[in-house]
Amino acid sequence: MRKGRRVRLGDLIDDYCPRCKLLLNHDIASFRDNRVAKVICRTCFTEHPYLKGKAAAKKPPKARASSFDQVLAKVSTSAPDRPTPKKRALAPARYITRHSQRPPRGKG
Ligand SMILES: [Zn+2]
Repeated sequence: MRKGRRVRLGDLIDDYCPRCKLLLNHDIASFRDNRVAKVICRTCFTEHPYLKGKAAAKKPPKARASSFDQVLAKVSTSAPDRPTPKKRALAPARYITRHSQRPPRGKG
């Protein structure tokens, strides 16, 4: 926040909303030591401490990638070409068999 610009209660401020999980417009709800303390999300109206536009506790994406690599390694090393489970075959169409040769009747 710039020093030159004074913000007041109710001013619009961008912040990360922990509920919407997005950077959204917020209203300043309270100050502490001339700093924004709490904000209210204009989208979901949740009041939360001012996060300075950052997510509070976001997992580092590296951990996620490494676990993915682990899985990938596991799959690539110990993956025998397992036959893919076949989808249940559709029931074969039932044809009405018409006998070209009728069984001889007793007539004749
Ligand atoms: Zn929100």
